[in-house]
Amino acid sequence: MKTLNEKVILVTGASRGIGAEVAQQLALAGAKVIVNYAGGTAAAEETVNAIIAAGGEAIALQADVSKADEVANLFDAAIAHYGKIDVLVNNAGIMITKLLKDTTDEDFTRQFDVNVRGTFNTLREAATKLADGGSIINFSSTTTRLLMPTYSTYVATKGAVEQLTRVFAKEVGARGINVNAVLPGPTNTELFTKGKPQQVIDHLASLNAFNRLGQPSDVAKVVVFLAGDDAKWISAQTIGLNGAMA
Ligand code: NDP
Repeated sequence: MKTLNEKVILVTGASRGIGAEVAQQLALAGAKVIVNYAGGTAAAEETVNAIIAAGGEAIALQADVSKADEVANLFDAAIAHYGKIDVLVNNAGIMITKLLKDTTDEDFTRQFDVNVRGTFNTLREAATKLADGGSIINFSSTTTRLLMPTYSTYVATKGAVEQLTRVFAKEVGARGINVNAVLPGPTNTELFTKGKPQQVIDHLASLNAFNRLGQPSDVAKVVVFLAGDDAKWISAQTIGLNGAMA
């Protein structure tokens, strides 16, 4: 059974990595998907083409989530195309890891602009433009539980995403909208693997109970559930997707 038939779902940062897999799994479950991206036009088109090739429906829409006007246009363009948005998946994010003493003003601002302002911008649009009875899935990270050196600003941004989740859930519950955050552990994407020696990747993969790296599909399957009506009574929660790592 296709659990997401008739639902229109906006996935931010869906050109690659976890977002691309989430978009494809949502479409397989019957949703019409808006594949948002910042700069990766070709990759976003690949995601859309993969969805259409599998019998699904999707369009790609460019918008930098850190820019309020672009996010407003993204919502309006998606609604103009599909008539509504039922579910928002706030997946777009970046990670800069450095000791705090080496973190530049630019690193700090960029990270907060994409991860926190980006989530804020989409939630503000969703407050009035998401359909009644909709769902929102924000992306935090298991690093907010691990609290490892070099992750201070990234963890600070994701801590903010978790708090936005908890408060916003109470603001939009009256419209039947539930809001949750997922916290993936180390997951096999460019964001995680880039710049890491294989032995560091292997070590981090060994710290969960399953002794393997998470895959985008591990995360996507949970997002499909949270986007569906059966998950409606789950709201304001932070859900670890990390094989018992933390
Ligand atoms: P990737 O770097 O693989 O992909 C990031 C995606 O976000 C790309 O599609 C990129 O689009 C998009 N993006 C980046 N900046 C913007 C922006 N300003 N506006 C719109 N889209 C943007 O990351 P992951 O798939 O690994 O991460 C996805 C989410 O999961 C992030 O929020 C991350 O923090 C979180 N996460 C990831 C973990 C991991 O181990 N991978 C662990 C825990 C959490 P484009 O191609 O156009 O640049």
